[in-house]
Amino acid sequence: MNPGEETIEDPGKGEIQCDVNTCLQNGEHYMSMIKKIQGELLKWGEKKIRNYPWRNTGDPYRVIVAEIMLQRTGADQVEKIYDKFIEKFPDFRSVVVAGQDRLRSELRPLGLLWRADLLYRMAQEVVGKYGGVLPLNRDELMKLPGIGHYIASALLCSLCNIPEPVLDTNTVRVIGRIFGIEVTDSSRRSKKFEKIMRDMIDCVEPRKFFLSIIDFAATVCTADDPKCKSCSLNDICSFYRVRLNEGKIN
Ligand code: SF4
Repeated sequence: MNPGEETIEDPGKGEIQCDVNTCLQNGEHYMSMIKKIQGELLKWGEKKIRNYPWRNTGDPYRVIVAEIMLQRTGADQVEKIYDKFIEKFPDFRSVVVAGQDRLRSELRPLGLLWRADLLYRMAQEVVGKYGGVLPLNRDELMKLPGIGHYIASALLCSLCNIPEPVLDTNTVRVIGRIFGIEVTDSSRRSKKFEKIMRDMIDCVEPRKFFLSIIDFAATVCTADDPKCKSCSLNDICSFYRVRLNEGKIN
C-alpha cells in the first residue's frame, strides 16, 4: 500500500484500497459510500429524528430564532424557553418593538447575551429592508447580521427542501470519521467537506437527511462517546476500523 492510502471495506465487494483524495473524485467506490450513508441515515431518521417545535413550522422567523438560540447551546436546553419566547415575540416586528434590553433579559437563561443583540439587529434589517419577511435567498440571507453559510444552508434546506451543504462542527465530525479525513477548525469551510456534504444531501429528501445527520451526530456519532458498535455505518467507517484495530471496540 502506498503512503496516504488506506484500506476501506467495501460491503459486498470485498476489500479495496482507497486513497481518500482519489476516492472523492466521484469514483464508483465513493458513490457507493454516499448511497449507503444516504440510505442508512434516512432510515435511521424515520424513527429517531427528534421532535422540536421549530421543526414543525414553515415560518422562517421561527426557524431562524431557533438557529440563533441553538448556536453553542443544546437543543434540549433551547426547547425549555423556545415556545414562551415565540409566544411573546411572534415575528420580527415584535422583536423590534420589544427592544434590545427586553430581549437580553428574555434570552439571559441561555447565557451568551450577544444572541439577543444579534436577533435585534437582524429584526431591524428584516423589518426595514424586507417588510418583516425573511428573504429565502442565499445572497440576501447572507447580507443579514449573524447569517453565515451554515444558517443560510440550514434555513434553505429545512424550509425549502433545497439540498444545501450544511456544515457545522457536528456534521463535519461525522464526515471526517467515516471518510478518514482529519478535522480541523477550518474543515467547515473546506471544499472537500463541502463536496461530500453536497453529494450526501443531494437525495430525494434533503430536509429529512439534514435533520437525520444532525440528530445522528448528536446522539450516535457523538464527540466523546460514539456508539460505533451498534452503528449501521460501521462497515464503511474509517474511524471504526481504527478503533477496532486499537482494540477499543470489543
Ligand atoms: S461507526 Fe462510529 S465513528 Fe463511524 S459513523 Fe458510526 S458512530 Fe460515527
